[in-house]
Amino acid sequence: MINSTAIKFPFLIFRKRLNRKAAQTPTGNLLHADNTAGKPGQVFIVGAGPGDAELLTIKAWKCLQQADVVLFDWLVDKSVLAEIPRHVKTEFVGKRSGQHSMVQQDICTRMVALASSGLKVVRLKGGDPAVFARTTEETAALQQANIPFAIVPGITAASGASAYTGIPLTERNCAQSVTLATAHFKDPEKMPDWHSLAKATKTQTVVIYMGLSRLKEIAENLSSRGVAEDFPVAVVENACCSNQQVIAGNLADIADKVQGAKLTGPALLIFGEVVKSRQQVSLQLLQQVTHVTGF
Ligand code: SAH
Repeated sequence: MINSTAIKFPFLIFRKRLNRKAAQTPTGNLLHADNTAGKPGQVFIVGAGPGDAELLTIKAWKCLQQADVVLFDWLVDKSVLAEIPRHVKTEFVGKRSGQHSMVQQDICTRMVALASSGLKVVRLKGGDPAVFARTTEETAALQQANIPFAIVPGITAASGASAYTGIPLTERNCAQSVTLATAHFKDPEKMPDWHSLAKATKTQTVVIYMGLSRLKEIAENLSSRGVAEDFPVAVVENACCSNQQVIAGNLADIADKVQGAKLTGPALLIFGEVVKSRQQVSLQLLQQVTHVTGF
């Protein structure tokens, strides 16, 4: 049964040392003009996962412990930042949709400069670095500067949202594959391929990243290309975070429901029959794991 009302999950109790990282030492004097020690720098591009710090891989966590400096995005949850040791410098290089605080080129330049001065740099990105994360722009800059780099995967928002809401991404009776799509392109005038997306909903689950502000437009475009008005849709805001919210509905009513709930994102849009196969996952059990492991 779909519960079409907004559900709030006041569940995960993260460690209380959260905001300390926000006030952490800036890296201003970290950069040496030249790498006099000759120590080779290196960069780890690390996936932070969608929220809950316990979803970090062990390798990602170890990278954070060993870093000299961490450059992080706005999508990285406070609970993840709290895992960075106090002595490690941090820099916010956030790019929130529509409010670019640092352009991509400047992030690349900064990362190359820090690594060139011999530092071990972690570039911490929300979710997985391979999914809508502009990673190739950064790795191209590193390659050009001859800086060794590695990529550590993270849980992408679609996987995290699926697990923490109980909405499967595939289900053999209705969706044998899944499409991860974005509604936000480098060229803001560019539109998704509505025809392909509408066609995909017949057999697949379609998960749209960066689509919250265009939800109404997306629903209208799918509808005008033949997707039924009662086609199931779920919107998951702050997946895997303590303030996760799920709005479930259908193509005809989802935009109004989401507007009523005043979601601000980040949020994923899940279009698919799988929304009807939602499982009753217990977030309280996840909380118990937190207590057992001492996090
Ligand atoms: N690399 C990231 C995606 C970055 S694009 C990943 O693999 O998840 C940014 C978009 O990801 C957001 O606009 C939103 O659509 C989605 N997103 C990221 N984290 C999310 C979260 N915790 N809950 C819901 N959506 C999220």
